[in-house]
Amino acid sequence: MSSPELVNCLIIGSGPAGFTAAIYAARADMKPVLYQGAQPGGQLMETTDVDNFPGYPEGINGPQMMMDLENQAKRFDTDVRSGWVTKVDFSGDIHKVWVGEGDSASEIHAKTVIISTGASAKWLGLESEIRLRDIGGGVSACAVCDGFFYRGQDVVIVGAGDSACEEASYLAKLCNKVTMLVRRDEMRASKAMQYRVKGIDNIEILYNTETVEVIGDEAVEAVKVKNNITGDETDLIATGFFVAIGHTPNTLIFKDFLELDDQGYIVQTHPGTSLTNIEGVFWSGDCADKIYKQAVTAAGSGCMAALDAERYLAAKGDH
Ligand code: NDP
Repeated sequence: MSSPELVNCLIIGSGPAGFTAAIYAARADMKPVLYQGAQPGGQLMETTDVDNFPGYPEGINGPQMMMDLENQAKRFDTDVRSGWVTKVDFSGDIHKVWVGEGDSASEIHAKTVIISTGASAKWLGLESEIRLRDIGGGVSACAVCDGFFYRGQDVVIVGAGDSACEEASYLAKLCNKVTMLVRRDEMRASKAMQYRVKGIDNIEILYNTETVEVIGDEAVEAVKVKNNITGDETDLIATGFFVAIGHTPNTLIFKDFLELDDQGYIVQTHPGTSLTNIEGVFWSGDCADKIYKQAVTAAGSGCMAALDAERYLAAKGDH
């Protein structure tokens, strides 16, 4: 049997973090290999207009932006491969990674690994919510990305954690009215964040309230909600529906080797760098970021990871 392929730099994930890491690593002649994962392009493939990524004065749609990033990475000879990393072994000096399932999985060895596996937004799972999300009809999981489209309008946001509070405060600056749907009789968010949203005049908080459906064929027209104590249903007129009920970082396969926090995010063991608790393994993007979660911050940390990986190899006399 032939010995596994050995690469300098293996990048797992193909969102803005992964492709930016690839651009930097390729330009540093590290000959990166990038595995795209189950959702090539990452979360931006679910986004219509991206208006906040620097360098696109007219905005760009998410899938197009990811194609641009991929082409830029390929221009410097990044080896972009389709494949799903299912297992890793970071116990030795050389990091082992398996691509594919079961007996047909192929084993690859890497001197450095950059993890850019991202996080997935949680959705309520309502048919109307997913349908309107998929057609760009006014359902979003990112207020900072999409709030601008609802200037002067009425929107509804579901969730009661720090993210929901932060997003509601952001939306309140742009929108006429923001209605927050909280499913219990209290919020999960920190007291400081709760205090902030409760002090904003155009935010109305509805407790014990759940979403029944998002109304609208082509775009959001209203949100049907139900009080889970009284059973009363109400239609809230709104043009935007924001879901802020948390994210799941895609880090499960690393749990035996990398330090993860209680929600599964990779711990940034050396703040201000992309280092993890394992030498030669670097984080980038939303898999380690529960605060900013932006394409541009993901891209920035992808750059950091490639530079850190290059310095790591250089210090070992390997590059
Ligand atoms: P959280 O898991 O903290 O909160 C999720 C919220 O969504 C909860 O209030 C939960 O309700 C609600 N929820 C979940 N599922 C549903 C559902 N099906 N229907 C209605 N509501 C639902 O996620 P966040 O993204 O807010 O925060 C994640 C982490 O990131 C936290 O540790 C937070 O502190 C941190 N963070 C920090 C920020 C900062 O410091 N600036 C900013 C943003 C996040 P319930 O409470 O009833 O379970």
